[in-house]
Amino acid sequence: MRAVFVRPGGGGVEVRDVDVPEIGEGEILVRMRVCGIDGTDLEKAFGRPITPPMLGHEVAGEVVESKTSEFRPGDRVFVHHHVFCGRCYYCLHGSYTMCPLFLKTTIEPCGLAEYFRVPRTNVERGAVLKLPDNVGWEEAAFIEPSACVLRAINRAGFRPGDSVSIVGVGPTGAIFIRLLKSFGASVVAAADLSSFRLEAARRLGADIVVNPLEADFPEECRGATDGRGVDIGVLATPTVKPLQTVLDTIRKGGVLLIFGAPEKGEKAEIDFSKLFLRETNIVTSYSTSEVETNLMLSLIASGRVSLRDLITHRFRLEEAEEAFQTARDAGRSLKVVVEA
Ligand SMILES: [Zn+2]
Ligand SMILES: [Zn+2]
Repeated sequence: MRAVFVRPGGGGVEVRDVDVPEIGEGEILVRMRVCGIDGTDLEKAFGRPITPPMLGHEVAGEVVESKTSEFRPGDRVFVHHHVFCGRCYYCLHGSYTMCPLFLKTTIEPCGLAEYFRVPRTNVERGAVLKLPDNVGWEEAAFIEPSACVLRAINRAGFRPGDSVSIVGVGPTGAIFIRLLKSFGASVVAAADLSSFRLEAARRLGADIVVNPLEADFPEECRGATDGRGVDIGVLATPTVKPLQTVLDTIRKGGVLLIFGAPEKGEKAEIDFSKLFLRETNIVTSYSTSEVETNLMLSLIASGRVSLRDLITHRFRLEEAEEAFQTARDAGRSLKVVVEA
């Protein structure tokens, strides 16, 4: 079967022929139907990644073989690649994504493969969710990325009526806009350098849409919030460069939410005195857990949230190289998915 891997030495991806994984007791084999490409995949393929090298984790498909009592061939499922143990110090303190088990768990060989094996640990810890009939494959591709965003929004302490700025309208920035609008944000302000992505932000209902090279984004945010600045500012770019811009949009006592995965060792220079005097709270959010994947599936299944209109490109597995090149082109793509 075919599967996608980071090219040895980096600098892109390649499709390779590998054996269909064999499953053991308590495991399932899934035929991939849809898999989204996200920022961390691009970082793995082209950058200096800080996350494990497996490609494709926004994945849903059909169970083709099961050595479990819970799942049967033909079941349509979403699969989360990471699970937490629920018993360690971190889990007992609610830091599920910091659990030592979390980054050790995965699917084999990856989500961007014709078939993948779901290990017993994932099955037992609730990583496999059955999809109701009314949740299509493309909608299911958004469970993982939107669950990451939902967790981030919760960690930032978002409340209906809050105002939020987002710098970086990539696929995740776009999900932020969609969820925040659905959850009752009073103001959603978005900034990006790509006019294609700004157009998407506008279409998604962002109240303020700004190219920071053409207008003063923090000024626009203050203008929409009685001069205060927003309650929560989100850095949703794969680089820390716009950090000061995000900080300048946030009100005193507000929250800075760091979401985009920076490259290894990336450092930021910020005005520390301002940070202190303005009581800016710093929150980061990495990945997601079964708490949020279940909530997102409920929101999607109930029709409260729909995300598949964020897909701009669809590719076949054998077109993975082109899919990755397209996903990295901010001038013409938003969400790119691979379908089988
Ligand atoms: Zn744990
Ligand atoms: Zn993702």
